[in-house]
Amino acid sequence: MIITDIPQPGRVVLTWTNSKNAMSTAMNFPRTVLVTAIIAAALSGCSKEESSGPTPKVSLTASEQDMLLFMLEEERLARDTYIALDALWAAPQFTNITSSEQSHMDKIATLLVKYGVAYTVLPAGTFAHPELQALYDRFMIDGALSEANALHIGATIEDLDIVDLQQRMDATANVDIDAAFAKLQCGSRNHLRSFVGAIIASGGTYTPQFMDQASYDAILASENEGCGGN
Ligand code: ZN
Ligand code: ZN
Repeated sequence: MIITDIPQPGRVVLTWTNSKNAMSTAMNFPRTVLVTAIIAAALSGCSKEESSGPTPKVSLTASEQDMLLFMLEEERLARDTYIALDALWAAPQFTNITSSEQSHMDKIATLLVKYGVAYTVLPAGTFAHPELQALYDRFMIDGALSEANALHIGATIEDLDIVDLQQRMDATANVDIDAAFAKLQCGSRNHLRSFVGAIIASGGTYTPQFMDQASYDAILASENEGCGGN
């Protein structure tokens, strides 16, 4: 199932690409998907007799679904923030890294589709998770004040992203999630090096706010990594 944005805030269009599979998946994950399954059934006229398609051999737990949905929004927090800061400041990092954040979102979306998890991408700058909304709102205020602030926000986002990805990798044995999050984390280490490099070049400093100092020092002491296109 693909859920697409439409211009009016608060409204979402549900587009079912394969309602038979989506319905059978929904039956396996009632907690998260039941409501959308009901809506979809209403929209598509899908009856009970039609809901017997093949089920995925490996399914995600509710917490694994939640971690994908959360990280999708956190990657979008990075993308939307960098797009906004790119419009304000000349630092090339925001332009360069924005496309990488889009590819991070795409990787997570690919897994959500693979496992039949319903998701929505809200309009830029709006987030379903209140903690991410609060961060975005603060970044928009602080980031407008100076380019130094904006670069500090970039480092902050990557610092947070690396830790949040690690916590979730530690909490799952799903190889798809582990592999995808490891790639995203690799990209985030490069982004962190880039932002901190720019901060230092302009005479500033960055102190890690989420990761421990030893992890931070190890990343900053190592070269940029190839992350499979990110
Ligand atoms: Zn990212
Ligand atoms: Zn990043």
